[in-house]
Amino acid sequence: MLLGVIADDLTGATDVALMLAREGMRVVQTVGVPASAAALPQADAVVVSLKSRTNPAAEAVEWSLASCEALLGAGARQILFKYCSTFDSTDAGNIGPVAAALVKRLDAPFTVACPAFPANGRSVYQGHLFVGRELLSDSPMKDHPLTPMRDSNLVRVLARQTALPVGLVPVQTVEQGPAATRAAFEALAKDGPAIGVGDAITNEHLRTLGAAFDGLPLLTGGSGIALGLPENIRRAGLLAPSGGARPFVAPAGHSAILAGSCSAATRGQVRDAMERGVPAFALDPVAIAQGRMAAADVLAWAKPRLGRDPVLVYSTAEPEAVRSVQERFGREEAGAMIERLLGEVARGLADAGVTRFVVAGGETSGAVVGALGVSMLEIGPEIDPGVPWTLAADGQPLALALKSGNFGTADFFVKALKMLG
Ligand code: ADP
Repeated sequence: MLLGVIADDLTGATDVALMLAREGMRVVQTVGVPASAAALPQADAVVVSLKSRTNPAAEAVEWSLASCEALLGAGARQILFKYCSTFDSTDAGNIGPVAAALVKRLDAPFTVACPAFPANGRSVYQGHLFVGRELLSDSPMKDHPLTPMRDSNLVRVLARQTALPVGLVPVQTVEQGPAATRAAFEALAKDGPAIGVGDAITNEHLRTLGAAFDGLPLLTGGSGIALGLPENIRRAGLLAPSGGARPFVAPAGHSAILAGSCSAATRGQVRDAMERGVPAFALDPVAIAQGRMAAADVLAWAKPRLGRDPVLVYSTAEPEAVRSVQERFGREEAGAMIERLLGEVARGLADAGVTRFVVAGGETSGAVVGALGVSMLEIGPEIDPGVPWTLAADGQPLALALKSGNFGTADFFVKALKMLG
């Protein structure tokens, strides 16, 4: 293994895995803290996906360190800690605490923090994070229910999260190239380990940051910070110039779409699929809660319809309907109940010969992958920005497209399945 990645959520892990695969690496994503180094697969890069973004910081640190240990044991030469490109976190963590713990474990002289992802409009200038044309603190992230981001100055945000000194490596330095950039990080860390917020407005800046960290033990950032890393490895002659990605062959079998996201993009995708004539089963949260609808009912409907063309099972609903269900049954309880049911449906469909799943929703994807007993994903071709096809690398052969709620074009479901031929 050349690169070990620790990601703080599942669909974010898939995003960075895709970035590395596109740059020519063979990438495998694992789900949850690896049991041991021996449990990790052979690949150029292994991405461990945790669900640690909003957990207590101590737990996020513990899981990240355990993952780091397994990755090092499996031969990782460099570790990347991947978080959201909107720096989702609170003053209690978890980005600062996890970064600091990894700096210590890896004996890193310094590390970078850079969530920039220019292709998706995230840029860092003078340490301030922009989302498109807006400062992070003016963007919708200011009202995020779990991690409201009300300060765009990442030097300040990080300094509130960690005791390590935090400084800035501004774009004027990054523009001077990898050597000057590295010297600036070294200067920040002249009295001991430090974190440098790295400016990046363009992919070229991200590549420079990547090159500046050639041979260093630790980077942290969004998926963009991974852009320059395959080139370091290729330059060292460790990666085949033509890339190490293997051809993607989806297993033969039936197709199904499971949508548990209620995000705007998913609502449009569900409508689009139904307009195209995809047979659809609407889950009714009230009926589920009252025991009048169960996985067996969905499976009885779906099984006679299975074939080359997909079936769609969805709980996707408009915000008012979601609110009313949440008020009646509780936000978490309603979510967990639907996730559990979609997991059972996925399991039953796989037993009935479905081998190709498109899943909409981050939490929903976690539930489905768990119910299918999949703990390892091999990254395949990109469907839409940030969303690849993946193959289950353990258990039965399955192709999985796991889409975070707001990703993908309106025709995503049908387009994704068409790609498999
Ligand atoms: P996204 O990626 O869009 O955030 P997630 O799957 O992560 O999607 O989260 C959606 C959450 O909403 C899940 O916990 C899901 O079970 C829950 N949910 C789905 N449909 C409904 C509904 N009709 N009413 C209430 N909650 C729902």
